[in-house]
Amino acid sequence: MLLTGTHPLVRAYLVTGVGKQLGCAHTPHLAGGVETRLMAPRLDLRAQGDSDLEAKLLADPHIKRIVDDAEKQKDLGIRRSFLATALRVTPPMSPRLATLVGHCTKTLGFEGTLETYIYPDASFNAGMARPEDGRVFMLFSSSLFESFDDEELKFVIGHELGHHLFGHHRLPMKALVESSMVGVAATQLFAWSRYAEISADRAGLTCAGKLDGVTSSLLKLASGLRQGLTSMRAEDLISQLGDMQEELGKRSADDANRKPQPDWFATHPFSPLRLQAANAFSRAEQFAGTGLSRTQLETEVAELMAVMEPTYLEDKGEIPEAMRRLLLAGGVAVASANGELDEKERKVLERFFGVGSVDRVNVKALSDDLPRRISNAVAVVPVLRRGQVLRDLCLVARADGHVSAEERTLLLDLATKLGVEVTLVDRALGAELSLD
Ligand SMILES: [Zn+2]
Repeated sequence: MLLTGTHPLVRAYLVTGVGKQLGCAHTPHLAGGVETRLMAPRLDLRAQGDSDLEAKLLADPHIKRIVDDAEKQKDLGIRRSFLATALRVTPPMSPRLATLVGHCTKTLGFEGTLETYIYPDASFNAGMARPEDGRVFMLFSSSLFESFDDEELKFVIGHELGHHLFGHHRLPMKALVESSMVGVAATQLFAWSRYAEISADRAGLTCAGKLDGVTSSLLKLASGLRQGLTSMRAEDLISQLGDMQEELGKRSADDANRKPQPDWFATHPFSPLRLQAANAFSRAEQFAGTGLSRTQLETEVAELMAVMEPTYLEDKGEIPEAMRRLLLAGGVAVASANGELDEKERKVLERFFGVGSVDRVNVKALSDDLPRRISNAVAVVPVLRRGQVLRDLCLVARADGHVSAEERTLLLDLATKLGVEVTLVDRALGAELSLD
């Protein structure tokens, strides 16, 4: 998916899947199902962070079990639902789309049966659904289809095909988040999903052929403007990233007054980051034939993505320490919001802090110390990173499968005291997560 989805169709189906590699069939743009030998799938385009984090996540038995369960679910009625609620676009209906899809499937070495759909929606979005019965489904919102030019659509189609090619549906984001994942694994899951977008963007750029289509697509996605702007320069969006990094670097007393963007919850990297990462790829040997080596490229991208990847549970230093202390006291307070800290809630906290860690803590003393830890966090932790702790506290609250009114009230109160945008709480509790 290009962005986090809001349309019911996007929410319902574009979030889970297995991303099976399909056997050889015909490409959709070839009338009569003529088979053509295509080039090998461009699996080399996948970002290092995407593959590495996926491997780490799959090594976790809890995650592996959920992935295996998702793969066992055969008939989800995806095609039935698309046929009923969206328009299936065949080549005669839109020769333009057929040509663009043909270009992209050939460029990326996609082999299979692809069905394209347009669904009515005012926002710009597109997505791939989990394959079903050997069919692969690509969806475009009506406004994206009408507003994006050929170069931009090549980027979008390439991006979506990239998700399929790299098997991103293998990790069912929604099911995983709903399965009470917490701690390092949860952080890694979000980080992985952002890297998955970077991989897909590389596939999109490869199909578009040059950075211009990517730049204008991302500018349109970021602004919602149909016609774009008079000048759609990459530098303008990238300079926004510079300003964002500057904001992150600031630590001052007025931090509490600065509301963070809800990026920590995002499955998609912020647009300027995506553009910067695509820009790096356009300067790489892999794309341009000369330029950055694979290692240089991945290092540059990892530095960019670090803007969105707080790893405070493992890092050393004053800020991570203050965040961990806040998480422990806040976690105990949230977990015991309904009364006593029960066995299940202890287990959740242990997944953050290690087995046995919670047995040693004095619940009363920790809860009493919470206000002091909040003040300390406000003093030393940048506001965006406080948002990260709050997100993890929301994961604690929802770990037992439901969130009580007391827990929510407490989280909203914590958000206010931490100077974090309160809407982050419901966002994290509702976990309207979509990935693709
Ligand atoms: Zn995507």
